[in-house]
Amino acid sequence: MDYSKYQILWDKAKEDLKYKMAEDNYNDTLLPVKSVVKFSNGTIYVLCPSLLIKTKMNKLFSVGLNETLQTLTEENLKFKFITSDEVLPKETPKETSNNMLQSNLKPEYTFETFVAGTSNKLAYRTSLTCAQQGTMLANPLYIFGGVGLGKTHIMQAIGNYILDNDINKRVLYVETQTFINEYSKAARTNSFEDFDQKYSNLDVLLVDDIQMLSNAPKCQNKFFDIFNDMYNKEKLIVAASDRPSDQLKDIVDRLKSRFTWGLQVDINKPDLDLRIQILKRKLVETSEQVVPDEVLEYIAKNFTDNVRELEGALRRVLSYAVTFDENVTLTLAKNALDALLKNKSNNGADQDFENLKSVICDFYQIEMADLISTKKSAKFTNPRHICMYILRTKYDLPYKRIGYLLGGKDHSSVLSACEKISLQLKTDKELKMAVDTICKKIG
Ligand code: ADP
Ligand code: MG
Repeated sequence: MDYSKYQILWDKAKEDLKYKMAEDNYNDTLLPVKSVVKFSNGTIYVLCPSLLIKTKMNKLFSVGLNETLQTLTEENLKFKFITSDEVLPKETPKETSNNMLQSNLKPEYTFETFVAGTSNKLAYRTSLTCAQQGTMLANPLYIFGGVGLGKTHIMQAIGNYILDNDINKRVLYVETQTFINEYSKAARTNSFEDFDQKYSNLDVLLVDDIQMLSNAPKCQNKFFDIFNDMYNKEKLIVAASDRPSDQLKDIVDRLKSRFTWGLQVDINKPDLDLRIQILKRKLVETSEQVVPDEVLEYIAKNFTDNVRELEGALRRVLSYAVTFDENVTLTLAKNALDALLKNKSNNGADQDFENLKSVICDFYQIEMADLISTKKSAKFTNPRHICMYILRTKYDLPYKRIGYLLGGKDHSSVLSACEKISLQLKTDKELKMAVDTICKKIG
């Protein structure tokens, strides 16, 4: 493997430090740290002649050197300092094959960059323990939760942690869709050599979005075999999914049941406090701009469901300030996020409403136009009132808005419709069943 590109980066970073420190100190510590001996997962491994120098490098210079590195390359890279003990296995055949294995891990997805709080503490602690202890605590580890809540981040943190502590571990992160594509390609050409090579002899397999395995029965079989092989060898398997394993659809039972052998942990939506903590952390990591607490609070209060969106909102505010060359203030943040927020509330609610309308029309076999009309026949008023009731109880919309959405009815008629349905539901079993069915359909 050719490390010259990384060697140049190391030489430059070292050179940069040379002029910032005392000559003796430089000659004793930095000068003998010469060669790049390995590169994997965005980490450039530099060889130290002794344990003492390695410790010094890590304690005193690592942060500064890594900061310099950021200015030298667009890539997200970091230096790590090791002694020859840690590189020796490089010569063994196992290491050769490891070099060829792309772990697909993002170096920034680590435990250090993951902020733990009430909603993700269990997943965080369990993942960290698995990273430290291998399969002793759980195998497989199954992490589930909604979109953008940190499943991919935390599962990759396991991989990064394990590789950080032993560069010879064979760690692979794969998205289920990639797994399926690779499998299909192998099946089409009937050549499983590369595929088997890639998925055999792994120490850690991280499979993301495992719910995507539904409807791919042959692929499930293959995955089942890989799973069993690893499980029998006590190798760690981590799966992430958008739902608990018993709610996986169209996945063979024997595979589903495997997921219950280990531990299942969930990640939930972050509360306000955690959202603010996450914003503060992102700020420290990515920017030197000063952001008042009230701005962070404003962002955190308006982006509640998804950490990816939360981060995006912060980025938008920061870049808005740069573009207009202004300080970050609450007014600026409101301006920057205005369009985003309008879009968000409209989009979500409008889609939900469209969906609800069509489910109700479907259920009662009426036309959409009749649902929002002023026609007084029970055939239409009943579904209309149910629609109002659901919009009120399930989406918590104000009466006025519901009236508007249903063709301009006034506040008081929406109110009485909701009260009527709510009363009727107590005794009318048929109505209750209808409402339950509709609610199930809209999810
Ligand atoms: P998921 O896989 O659940 O859809 P991701 O892991 O892709 O979510 O997370 C989305 C984004 O939010 C990523 O940039 C991730 O780093 C960030 N993120 C999520 N949770 C946290 C957290 N607790 N601390 C820091 N960053 C987080
Ligand atoms: Mg993900």
